[in-house]
Amino acid sequence: MRIKDKKRFIIACGGLAAILILIIVVLTIGFWHRNEIETAADSAKNSQTPTAQTTMTTKETDTATTTQPAVTEQPAATESKEEIKATTAANTGGTDSITTLVNKNHSISASYVPGDLVTVDLPSTRDTQLRSVAAEGLTKLFAAAEGAGHELYCCSGYRSYETQSELYAWNVDTYGVDGAELVSARPGMSEHQLGLAMDVTSAAAGFDLLESFGSTSEGQFIKENAHKYGFIVRYPQGKTDITGYAYEPWHLRYLGVDVATAIYNSGKTMEEYYGTN
Ligand SMILES: [Zn+2]
Repeated sequence: MRIKDKKRFIIACGGLAAILILIIVVLTIGFWHRNEIETAADSAKNSQTPTAQTTMTTKETDTATTTQPAVTEQPAATESKEEIKATTAANTGGTDSITTLVNKNHSISASYVPGDLVTVDLPSTRDTQLRSVAAEGLTKLFAAAEGAGHELYCCSGYRSYETQSELYAWNVDTYGVDGAELVSARPGMSEHQLGLAMDVTSAAAGFDLLESFGSTSEGQFIKENAHKYGFIVRYPQGKTDITGYAYEPWHLRYLGVDVATAIYNSGKTMEEYYGTN
């Protein structure tokens, strides 16, 4: 090879090497650049993950915070579910609650009218209404009584505030205030306005509301079985000092099977069971 050719060869090799180096540099830069993008993406993902975790942790914390008081409250809530519900209803005066306590100390609004009154489709001395859930319970109670050979009659269910006013006024005129207080609720203080009370009678009681009804086979059946269908005899014998009313073996109050059964089993009045007066 001539010297001139040698130089050309060296220049060509140098050029080739330079091109190769350039290619390597470009590829390396490209690789680094791609790495940088991926790293950035990863770090972006990573930076999102902690955010998500933070959110979740916050949520969990919130849940824990929400749950905490409930858990703390649980040990205090040793009473049965029915008792809690009943006590709340009594305390808050939730008039629509079937376990609402109404008596001489717990009154209801003059304007309260139950939204689900139905005319009771049972033997009755007159047309009368109840809230639908109470009417269903009473229908079952009457069926059970009939099955046991007893014939019951409805006498008086729902009474409006106005009707109760007239009834109370009539009782005051007839028996005087003290006498009326024992046998008749003041307007706004009657369970009949709740649509959850029914006075029942029988042929043996002359289709009237008499204390002697308690001694009839129908009265006895009511006393022993009403709770199975959601009712209690609201004003029992010997409890006038607690209920404020004379013995009324005919006055049934609907509370639902659970609460009625619990009260029946306790042997207490509604007031004693609720721990109030
Ligand atoms: Zn009554």
